[in-house]
Amino acid sequence: MASLFKVPITELKKVGKKKAELFARLNIFSVGDLLRFYPRTYEDWRNPYSIAQAPENTVCCVGGYIEKTNPPARIRGGMTILKVIVCDGKDRMTVTFFNQHYLYEKFADGGEFLFYGIIKHNGHFYEMSSPTVSDVNKAGIHPVYPQTAGLPSRHIEEAAIQAIRMLPEKMNDPIPTSILEKNGLCSLDYAIRNIHFPKQLEDAENARKRLSFEELLILQLGMARLKGGRQTAAEISHRIRNDYTEEFFSLLPFVPTGAQKRAVSECIFDMTNENCAMNRLVQGDVGSGKTAVAAAVCYTAIKNGMQCAFMAPTEILAVQHYNSLTELLGECGITISLLTGSVRASQKKKIYAALENGEIDLLIGTHALISDNVNFKDLGLVITDEQHRFGVAQRSALISKGKSPHIMVMSATPIPRTLALMIFGDLDLSVLDELPPGRQKVDTFLIDSAKRFRAYGFLKKHIDEGQQCYIVCPLVGQSEMELESAEEYAEKLHSTVLRDCRIGLLHGKMKPKEKEIIMQEFSQGKIDILVSTTVIEVGVDVPNATIMFIENAERFGLSQLHQLRGRVGRGKDKSYCILVSDHQNETTRQRLYVMCKTNDGFKIADEDLRLRGPGDFFGARQHGLPELKIANMSSMEILEQTQQAAADILHDDPLLEKQEHRGLYFETRRLFAKTGSDQLQ
Ligand code: ADP
Ligand code: MG
Repeated sequence: MASLFKVPITELKKVGKKKAELFARLNIFSVGDLLRFYPRTYEDWRNPYSIAQAPENTVCCVGGYIEKTNPPARIRGGMTILKVIVCDGKDRMTVTFFNQHYLYEKFADGGEFLFYGIIKHNGHFYEMSSPTVSDVNKAGIHPVYPQTAGLPSRHIEEAAIQAIRMLPEKMNDPIPTSILEKNGLCSLDYAIRNIHFPKQLEDAENARKRLSFEELLILQLGMARLKGGRQTAAEISHRIRNDYTEEFFSLLPFVPTGAQKRAVSECIFDMTNENCAMNRLVQGDVGSGKTAVAAAVCYTAIKNGMQCAFMAPTEILAVQHYNSLTELLGECGITISLLTGSVRASQKKKIYAALENGEIDLLIGTHALISDNVNFKDLGLVITDEQHRFGVAQRSALISKGKSPHIMVMSATPIPRTLALMIFGDLDLSVLDELPPGRQKVDTFLIDSAKRFRAYGFLKKHIDEGQQCYIVCPLVGQSEMELESAEEYAEKLHSTVLRDCRIGLLHGKMKPKEKEIIMQEFSQGKIDILVSTTVIEVGVDVPNATIMFIENAERFGLSQLHQLRGRVGRGKDKSYCILVSDHQNETTRQRLYVMCKTNDGFKIADEDLRLRGPGDFFGARQHGLPELKIANMSSMEILEQTQQAAADILHDDPLLEKQEHRGLYFETRRLFAKTGSDQLQ
């Protein structure tokens, strides 16, 4: 099958240049890519229902013949509407199509068809709106592919039918037979054929299981090779001899929570250990006070003579950490520097020199920290905040600047243990399961856009009382042109009740310096409303902001929404989160309601996992992992099986050099090539 990756998709019938461009949007360039593009789900057209028997409010297949068709009519907005009456010999239903006038020809002569959609009762009538239509002889199980505008699933299916025909008679399977047998998995040949065109749904399930296994196995083999072996014992010089935690706590303007104390002492304990360096994930909901934990650990590390590096994913956050840690630690003779992309060259040079001399105790910054010029005298502790945003390679690059330094990872997104294992390797976990006292619940509401203007009034009222708000809207310059960009949005606010408010704009296309200025103005109260894309998502702390208003809320994952919501409710005033969404889809609404019901980040993450499936953890590429297509974390069993298999393979053949592992080697490179991670040779 490997050779099909060299056959361009345009070799298929009905795939010309134009269509190839659409396929390219789905990352499909070759016939091989298409075969590795799996259906999202299936439509079962095998046993059509009669009209009266079709279950209500569920997608299903209904059969009938065309009794009457009216020519398509034009309606507002240049749309066309086509109505047909379908009869199954007993009952009738009205079927409506929008902008599908070409169907008129198909229906004009009557005939029997299958309709796949949701049937609704309306008094005595049955109705179906915009179903998929098919000839009766097409009954069977049809794949449903993730689609892109202009390229419906049907067209992908047609191409896939041809692609399957091009499969060689004998396919090389990257997974050795012994592993397939041991784990009860089907062959690649069977899997590819049945993931696209199963005869029974169970066949698709078997295929899915095997393909998930393969994907996870390859991922783990790749990760293992990227990470290159296990943590070793910390250098003698990095061992903590005296614990200065109490001294540090007495410097804090607040009393640490029990959870913070526990996390700090767990870290200190790790760093006192003789056998291995600390490798710890500190997980805590937004606002649980992870920064203070990091500061405490730095304090003791530095007092024990170590240098520390603290890496944040964005410049805004790095600056914020720099400010708060300088406030906390600067007074006690600790030297702290900030290194980000926008620091001037001359200043950078000074920092590089001071680092090598050991004059800087704590270096805070963005991924500028991993630049080649950065050399520490003796880096003993590496802390990364919101770690999941860094790639594996970036992480290892920073760690390699020290000799087996201690590692502390901070994350606000609860990550399932198995997934954490895969990303970070074997690490220990501290959980901040307690919020600082006095925190209030953020009341959350779900509204549709019809209520937007009333909600603006609500914002106005709070702004008049001296509070501030965030409005989050979709990204600037992304392909989703139909969504308002932050810029246009801010512009439009000028014609609403919010016109007199001071409005600031923050988006991903701005230079770091510009962002910083806006953030500063916002935190100084010079801006009332910050209209923003998700760049404010992580870590920003402005206690006077009390309303988080999120447009197109359905576009965000729950965990992301929770992160955004965590930006308010940080001060003394009652805070609110308003989610705007016009999506009527039941699952979407359910998902958004979870936000209204709970403020507990761990519960939300669980729910997110349950509702969206774990693909999301991979999909968003937040972990620096390559994008996966099929692996489903809900099958923890498969993940565990692959962990075992990967360990066995690497034990036997660490570099995947053996003949029987050549297929795995090839696939590993293919998967990681897409992340632009060139470490894998
Ligand atoms: P996160 O875990 O989201 O990174 P931060 O470290 O930014 O949270 O802390 C959020 C806010 O809570 C900060 O303003 C911080 O000063 C404050 N804070 C942290 N710990 C405590 C505590 N024990 N008591 C009161 N306030 C605290
Ligand atoms: Mg934080």
